Amino acid sequence: MKYTSTRNTSITAAPSMAVLNGIASDGGLFIFDEYPLAPSLNELCGMTTFELYTEILSSLIFDIPKEKMADLVSAAYTDKFETGDLTPLVKVGDDYVLELFRGPTSAFKDVALSILPHLVTTCARMNGVEDDIHILTATSGDTGKAAMAGFADVEGTRITVFFPKDGVSTVQQAQMLTQEGKNVTVCSVKGNFDDAQTGVKEIFSKVQQDKLLAGKGVRLSSANSINIGRLAPQVVYYYKSYFDLVRAGTITMGDKIDFVVPTGNFGDILAGYIAKGMGLPVGTLVCASNKNDVLTEFIETGRYNRNRTFYKTASPSMDILVSSNLERLLYLMSGNDADKIAGYMSDLKTKGEYTVDNELKTAIANEFYACAACDETAFVTIKSVYEEKGYLLDTHTAVAMHACSEYKKNNPGHNLCVVLSTASPYKFAADVLFAITGKKESDGFKAMRDLETLTNVPIPKNLSGLDTKPTLHSDSIEKEAMLDYVIDFSEKKI
Ligand SMILES: *Cc1c(COP(=O)(O)O)cnc(C)c1O
Repeated sequence: MKYTSTRNTSITAAPSMAVLNGIASDGGLFIFDEYPLAPSLNELCGMTTFELYTEILSSLIFDIPKEKMADLVSAAYTDKFETGDLTPLVKVGDDYVLELFRGPTSAFKDVALSILPHLVTTCARMNGVEDDIHILTATSGDTGKAAMAGFADVEGTRITVFFPKDGVSTVQQAQMLTQEGKNVTVCSVKGNFDDAQTGVKEIFSKVQQDKLLAGKGVRLSSANSINIGRLAPQVVYYYKSYFDLVRAGTITMGDKIDFVVPTGNFGDILAGYIAKGMGLPVGTLVCASNKNDVLTEFIETGRYNRNRTFYKTASPSMDILVSSNLERLLYLMSGNDADKIAGYMSDLKTKGEYTVDNELKTAIANEFYACAACDETAFVTIKSVYEEKGYLLDTHTAVAMHACSEYKKNNPGHNLCVVLSTASPYKFAADVLFAITGKKESDGFKAMRDLETLTNVPIPKNLSGLDTKPTLHSDSIEKEAMLDYVIDFSEKKI
């Protein structure tokens, strides 16, 4: 087993090199050529959370020795999350909510980004790389802070985060601009998330093609979910939630469950598909989108068309027109047909769209259900779930909760449903407060306090002191200036 590019199977890498490089040299994404083997479900079910992380991560990134992986898991997660099991499962009405936001920045991305720095530095050392690793990331809000928190002051690394100016919430912005660490820089880009992400992808290929950092003692790597090191830890919580249900006696080992996933770049839901491929009994994966419903159309029609209006919504981490990780799904579902994927991706680049063949379209429709919800629908869902079930949803999870109801209504034979919750409601407090009370509070921090008073759900510690922390970053640039910005920080003595 090895990793190859989704666009050319003769471009191969050991998993540690795939983690280190982030993206393949032809612009494709690294993916395994066959599903990794994991221990039996019964064996995995008997493990502690940390053991489970160690096992699944070792299956996916198999060239890191298991004892070493256990150390990395322990360094990444010990006392970093609100609960020792990292991702608690909570019953809400007939369904379950998998809370992925109990980490250091209150976003689901903490699960992967807490361990990524440890994976990256280990992979570098294993491969004799002495260079500093410069992490480059475009963020729609949550990745940036979670990545900076993960990498801050990690020896041998530096990190640059680009976020779309006016494209993130007040709280997300404050989280990023107050980040400490001498190896950290964050900068807003005039444009939307896709501009920032496209800019980052172009920097990777330009730096590689023109050897812009050769001999400078620095190499670029990615913390976006195109990095397999981001994807791998996300596979684990699908297992974890399944075993929680088995251990509670809610399901019997082998029963299928359905997962509903608030989706943007398709990393989270792809991890669920990978878990299924590795043997976890997963039924349907429900892909929930906001008004940017490019994935809904794709799953329903087989046509991926990014030539459409880009909407800024109340769930900004899902405001995406190009869902990068879909490329990996197409590869896996087409039976590793890299030529086909290269063709689709070339169409996407030149025409802004592609249409998959009928066979692939049908296969995807068998595995996935898609549903989109606009802000108004998400707000109604927040209010009704709070009032009727006593549970406070954030704006992203609300989109998924709505998709869950629609899915169940249209599929009476559905399995038990687990809704992945990707953010604390306090990261989007103004919208959540508005959804419940109809009151507009433009001060995000005041909204947080009002929401806490109203609901008695405690504000997570990392968010409560944020408005009094000093702002440490203020850079803002045009997208054309991103490359120079990165080169400058690469060359800076830190
Ligand atoms: C990143 C993010 C998502 C989307 O996850 P993908 O892996 O990009 O599909 C959803 N909700 C929140 C809160 C996020 O931060």
